[in-house]
Amino acid sequence: MRVLVQKFGGTSVATAERRAQVAAKVSEAVREGYSPVVVVSAIGRNGDPYATDTFINLVNGITLDHPKREMDLLLSCGEIISGVVMTSTLKNLGLDAILLTGGQAGIITNDCFGDARIIRVEPKAILENLQAGKVVVVTGFQGVTEDGQITTLGRGGSDTTAAALGVALNAEAIDIYTDVEGIMTADPRIVEDARILDVVTYNEICHLAHQGAKVIHPRAVEIAMQKNIPIWIKCTFSDAKGTLVTSIQPDMGAGTDITGDRLITGIAHTANITQIRVPTHEVVDVLQAHKQIFKGMALADISVDFISVQPESVLYTVPDELAGKALKILENLGFKPTAVPSCAKVSIVGAGIAGVPGVMADMVEALADAGVSILQSADSHTTIWVLVKKEDMVPAVQALHKKFMVGCK
Ligand code: ADP
Ligand code: MG
Repeated sequence: MRVLVQKFGGTSVATAERRAQVAAKVSEAVREGYSPVVVVSAIGRNGDPYATDTFINLVNGITLDHPKREMDLLLSCGEIISGVVMTSTLKNLGLDAILLTGGQAGIITNDCFGDARIIRVEPKAILENLQAGKVVVVTGFQGVTEDGQITTLGRGGSDTTAAALGVALNAEAIDIYTDVEGIMTADPRIVEDARILDVVTYNEICHLAHQGAKVIHPRAVEIAMQKNIPIWIKCTFSDAKGTLVTSIQPDMGAGTDITGDRLITGIAHTANITQIRVPTHEVVDVLQAHKQIFKGMALADISVDFISVQPESVLYTVPDELAGKALKILENLGFKPTAVPSCAKVSIVGAGIAGVPGVMADMVEALADAGVSILQSADSHTTIWVLVKKEDMVPAVQALHKKFMVGCK
């Protein structure tokens, strides 16, 4: 059996016309001799009747503290509805299709409701149905705990479902269908001349995805990478070849470094970040203060980013929606924090960036010429990040794309 996982995102299943295009992709796979496993997301985006965000808004405001278990029951409905509609669409084309929920498909997760991790996949039911010649539709974004509680996998969770199934079924490939023609050198919604990358390594897309390129979820990449299952990012609405995610870049030729990672893969961005500054120049015991600050955040489950600890102050960022909580904790500990809300993180990402002279100089120059002020910066061996005001995000991404991505291969 040649298993092919085909995942279709929310925009791909949003209308009857689009679902017909999805069905055509599935039909094509069957014609080519594959046994397709079709993973679907909920239909549409916020405002659409069965979209995940619409469900969230349904209960927002009822209580400040939604029971997480019940929230997951609610959210899991979106993919079930979408899966039923998709299964009917496939049947209408003469394909023998069956829908399995995450639990029925054997996706076992931990009990971290809202952001559950897949522990293992028991693919028996899927395999039996594939062997019976059926197209198996699986609801993305969800699983069950060992004791049968329904969980959801967090944002981008359907990508993770597809990757986990690809690995468990030893699929020939995992096709992630979306509304763009592949992985690009920047978000095409912001950068008009962003280029499609024909091949990227797991490593490269993982870094790019971690920095906000939401075209695929980083967890999905990490899972597929474990068994070296190729991922294709393709467009539901065209026949473009798409981007292959693999472990090496076959076309880079001999003489390049063995991982095949290029110097810079692309520019990524993420918005809605608050920068918090905690002055520590007046505290008596600075070491104790540092401990208190980060313990305080950890105990409240607030993940911190962009951390810069200096003797006179501590700087870090949190998501906008957690800023109020973070500031309250700091004030209760006796600190006098200040905050800059509505910032964005803009990154140049490339596995080959480490130690290359001049990259930071070029970055600073590009941003300065675009009139963008850097609030903070940080770097790792694969990424250089700058924090900017949200209104500077688009000009910053455009300027960096122009500097680093235009004209290079
Ligand atoms: P889906 O609903 O199919 O999962 P997403 O909205 O999660 O789709 O992801 C696709 C979107 O990712 C695109 O519409 C595009 O705006 C955005 N995106 C961000 N960065 C990139 C990038 N580097 N390459 C391609 N798309 C990107
Ligand atoms: Mg997505």
